[in-house]
Formats: sequence, C-alpha cells, structure tokens
Amino acid sequence: ETKTLIADKTVRTTCTYCGVGCQLDVSVINGKIRGIQAPETAEVNEGHTCLKGRFAFQFYDHPDRLREPMIKKNGKFEIVTWNEAYDFIATKLIEIKNKYGVDAIGGISSSRATNEENYLMQKMIRVALGTNNIDGCARVCHAPTAFGMQQAFGTGAATNSVEDLKDTDAIFLFGANPVKGHPVTGAKIKQAFMKGVTSIVVDPVKTKLADLATHFLQVRPGTNVAILNMIAHYIVTENLVNQDFIDTYTDKYNDFKNHVIGLDMDELSELTGVDKDVVKAAAIAYAKADRAMEFHGLGVTEHFQGSKTVMLLSNLAMMTGNVGRKGVGLNPLRGQNNVQGAADMGVQPHQGAGYLDVNDPKIQQYYAEKYGIAKMPEKEGLKIPDMLDAAIEGKIKALYIMGEDTIMTDPNSYHSIKAFENLELIVVQELFMTATSEMADVVLPASSYFEKNGTFTNGERRVQRVNKVIEPIGNTKPDGQIIIDMMHKLGYDQPTGLTYDAAKIIEEIADVIPFMKGLTWEGLGTNGLQWPIKEDGTDTKMLHIDGAFKKGKGTFHHFDFVESPEIVEHGANYPFILTTGRELEHYNSGTMTRRTDNQSILSKDYLEVNPRDAKIKGITDEDIVRIFSDRGSVNIPVKISKNVKKGILRTTFHQPEVFINIITGSVGDKETMTPEYKVVAVDFEKV
Ligand code: SF4
Repeated sequence: ETKTLIADKTVRTTCTYCGVGCQLDVSVINGKIRGIQAPETAEVNEGHTCLKGRFAFQFYDHPDRLREPMIKKNGKFEIVTWNEAYDFIATKLIEIKNKYGVDAIGGISSSRATNEENYLMQKMIRVALGTNNIDGCARVCHAPTAFGMQQAFGTGAATNSVEDLKDTDAIFLFGANPVKGHPVTGAKIKQAFMKGVTSIVVDPVKTKLADLATHFLQVRPGTNVAILNMIAHYIVTENLVNQDFIDTYTDKYNDFKNHVIGLDMDELSELTGVDKDVVKAAAIAYAKADRAMEFHGLGVTEHFQGSKTVMLLSNLAMMTGNVGRKGVGLNPLRGQNNVQGAADMGVQPHQGAGYLDVNDPKIQQYYAEKYGIAKMPEKEGLKIPDMLDAAIEGKIKALYIMGEDTIMTDPNSYHSIKAFENLELIVVQELFMTATSEMADVVLPASSYFEKNGTFTNGERRVQRVNKVIEPIGNTKPDGQIIIDMMHKLGYDQPTGLTYDAAKIIEEIADVIPFMKGLTWEGLGTNGLQWPIKEDGTDTKMLHIDGAFKKGKGTFHHFDFVESPEIVEHGANYPFILTTGRELEHYNSGTMTRRTDNQSILSKDYLEVNPRDAKIKGITDEDIVRIFSDRGSVNIPVKISKNVKKGILRTTFHQPEVFINIITGSVGDKETMTPEYKVVAVDFEKV
C-alpha cells in the first residue's frame, strides 16, 4: 500500500550549494522538511536539479547541528546564554583593540551566507570595529576572476547568461568540470556538445565533457598561460582576428599581438604537453565560430598565474569580437552559491560594498555618509593568507569567522593551525563543529538557509530570494541576526533595527551599491534579477553590449609563461604533480553533504593514478598510498585511471579523514594570493 503525503506547505527557495543557483520547492510536513522538487517555471533550472540540491537536505536537523552558544573554558566547550557569549566576545574584542590597535582584528566572511549577512559582516568589521581586515572564501577560489576581468573589462563578473547556451556556436571550456561542480549548467553544456556545437575543452584531466568535445587539450597543470599564448598566436597568424572590434573598442592590442607572434610554438608545445597542431585546430575552430562562449573554473584561478590566465581568456574574447552579444562572452563558473554576492557586498579588504576602492578618500567619505559615521578606516586590509601570516608574527590577535572552515579548506593546514594557536580570540559562527570551530574560544550556532530569509547571487549575477522554510533549529540564530546583535554590543546600532529583516537590509544595500539601485525584496519575484539593477527595477542579462566596457575601452594584456615556484623549488624531490577536484555527490569540505544520504553513495576521497605510474610503484586499485609533499603526508585509497597522464595525480577533498590540505602549499596567484591547489609537488608510496 502506498500513502500519498500532503505537504503542509511548499516554499520556493534557492539552493545553498553551487553557483548555478537552482530554485527549489521545499515541502514541509509537521515542521519537518520531507522533500524537494525542481519548479519547471524556474528560469535558472527549468525543472532540473542535481542530487545535492534535491536530496542532500538532511543535514539541517542532523544530531551534529550546533544548537547552543558555547565558550571554551579550561579547554572544554560549555553551553552559555547568547548574552554571555556576546558580552565575552565584545569585551575581548574591545580589549584587543585598545591594547594592539584595531588592525589586530580580522574578519572572515562566507559565500554560503546570504548577501544581507555578508553585507552586515563587512559592515561590522569596517564600521563597528574600524578595520578593512575583512575577506572571504573567494580568496581561495575566484578572486583572480574578479581581478583579471576588472583589468580587462572593468567589471569582474560573467558577461552573459547561461541561457545563451541555446544561442551559441562554440563553447570553450577551460579548467572546469561542470558536470560534477555545476551539474545543472554542466548538463546544459553537455547537451550543447551532443547537439554538435564546436566544443573545446582545456583540462589536465580527461573529464566526461573532454571525452565528448570536438577538441581536447590535455594540458600539463600550471601551463595555462602557455596554452593560451599558443591559441592567440594561431588566431593572429591565421588572420582570424576581428580587427573592427579591436580597433573600435579596445586598447593595447598591438603589444599583445607582437608578443604572441614572436613565441616559439615548439617550445610551448613541449611545456604544455599538447601537440601544436591540436592547439592550432582548436584555435581556428574557436575563432571561426560566429558566436563563441568561454566558461572557466578553478582550474584557471587556483594557480600561480591565475589572474594572468583570466586576462588572457579576456583577450581571446576581445580579439575575436566575442563580447557584448548573445551567445558569447566570458562566463566564470562561480563555485559557491553566493561567492559572487559576497564580493558584491564588499567582502574583500581592498573594495567595499559595490567594489568601491577603500583607499580612495572620496570613497571613504561616501561610505561614512551612507553608514552615518564620522570616519571609515583609511588603509586597505589584509587578505586571508596575510591574516594568517600576521597571526604567526603576532600582529593579528583575533579572528571573527562566519561560516568558514579555514583550517580544513585553506592550503598548508599546519601553517593555518600554527596561526590559530597564536590568536588570543577566535570566534566562529557555524552549523557544525569543524576543524576550525574546534579551535575557537566561542562558537555561535547559526541557522541554515532553510531557517532564514535573504538572497544569494548566482554566477550569472542573478540575485535570487532565499525564503524561510522552517523556524530556526534549537537555539540557533541567522548569521545576520548574530552580527546585528554583536554590532549592538560593540556600540553600533544597525539603522534598519535590531531585528534581522532581509527586506530592510536590501533597502540599505540598494542605497549603498550603485549597481543595485532598483533592488527590492518584492521586486525580486520568483526568478530574481541580474545586476546591474536599474532604478526602475529592470535588470541586465548581458554586459558590455556593443563593446561598451565599463572602463571605456577593453584592455589587452600580455604575459609569458612562468613555471610555478612550487615546481621550481620542490619538483626535483617531489616529481609528481597533484591536482585537486570535486565530486558530484559532495560539496567542498563536505560539512553539509557528509551529513546526508549522499555520504552513503560516496564516502571516501581517492587518488587517481595513471596505470603506468601505478605499475612502477607496484600498486593496484583500492591500495592505500601515502602521498607526501614538503609540508606533510596523508594516506588515501587509489583509483587507477587513464583520465590523468603519467606523472599527474588527481585527488578529491571532501572527507576530513584525508585532510588533503596538509600537503598543499603556500604558493598563490601573484595578484590575489589565491592558493595554487591545482599544482602541488608530491611523491607517493604504497602503505
Ligand atoms: Fe544546487 Fe548547483 Fe545542484 Fe543546482 S546544480 S541543485 S544549485 S548544487
């Protein structure tokens, strides 16, 4: 006998996992979430979800959920009241501020939290405390995208919308595996590949999409600049550039052209490990397409030359006129659900809400007037890696962290642990005990996305509503409420009131951020709005129409390939290159997905090893190997796979048992310090 359960209510909200931003209909019976469906009317996902959005929801009332505020006393956490926790934190923060200066305090915000919460978090650090030491997890993923695209186009966000996939002739997918990382967009890309559009994949790993692509460039990890220089060389030498577009809308093309013409293709072919004729064919196919879309992921950004690679991808779009039309552009596949939004809200040490430069006195004045205070902090703040180094040097004394597992997710974990051990105060707002919250002095239990209102901004600049489905679990509070309470204790009262109300915070955001002028809670409707949102509430599906770049003209940049210091310094002793990637079933450090049924589908991390390397090392499938670098070692089971070339290893990173960041290094992107998770010099042996 089957029973039909009738939901008490069904609430439309936005998925918490990846930057695709699928809309979900969440059904509730007796106050419990019982199922999730994908609404067909949702513009983003059109009736589809992946198995994270639809099925990985049981974490919300998992027994491990933090339910009470706790302070560590004599090495053990004790439950306290909210008021006790707030007073303890405020007293310690003020003490540290008075003793060492306000720049001894840092804040780390979260792309998992809503826009309104990120806005409030940066405001607490800048306004209630008075320092620009605020950063977020874009630092470990897409900061080079924002930086690189700002240098080229003036705006660091996707130029087009995912729906343009229906109107493109070619897809150039670089350093991304959206079938696993961004599954609903990945499925649309796969459909386009199967329908026969020109498809070019550049990746060190032979992914499903690489298998289907018309052109696959299996590049050696870390040589992205070299392969893009080769592609540009062939587009120039085959006379396939769009000279009209270049002359009318861009600057500095000739320097770039002269640079790539002079490069030695045989030398770059050897460096990248890709035959020059294969590169040439891909370059011609991309340039000959009437409309070509570029998509890129962390395989571009998490490198020593990450920002430079983004600028070279921007060059490709400009030199072929693939900007400002439907079915073209540069479209970063943003990782976390709200990594775009957190940056928009000012969660970075050099730019405040709306990407305004915090070093500019006029901008400081602008923010001071908007926030109703006399003076904003005057100097740019520290990025997360700088904060950790400063903690080791004794210059940072307190870290206030909202929803980040820094110890587990940042590279070179022993370095992070050393930094944390040096702090006088660690505050963590979290859903669960993590490696980071274990080290905290105070842990504040936060509500999950099912338990609050707000907005997330997806990878195509679309601000979408997060609607409260159930009441907060236990004695938890939304992160936004915790921040408002903390600001009150620090002597700053949020002008929208002491109760977290997303709609009111949105009004303030619309007042402060120039490209959000027409944003309102009501106006977002069920499908959201893509910024810039004009005063009349209309939105923008495409940027830089007809070459109208925000900075006036688009700028070409040119660079030579430089080998990562990781390989230069450690390659001789650690001859294998390890690269990292995600699996469909899990999300990043797995804090949420490991506490759902997805864990029973995939409960282990594994290391992909080429059969020839496996033979030399005498290992077979499922053997446990010890993989080690200059920083440390971890044990991990092996999967023998031809998806990686000889000399290359690939690992996933979802399970704490493996703790892969013990072996990753401190090399980062030159411009943004985003860690190079994709090139780690290692060796391995059978255990
Ligand atoms: Fe959620 Fe991304 Fe899956 Fe959509 S594709 S359901 S946003 S994890």
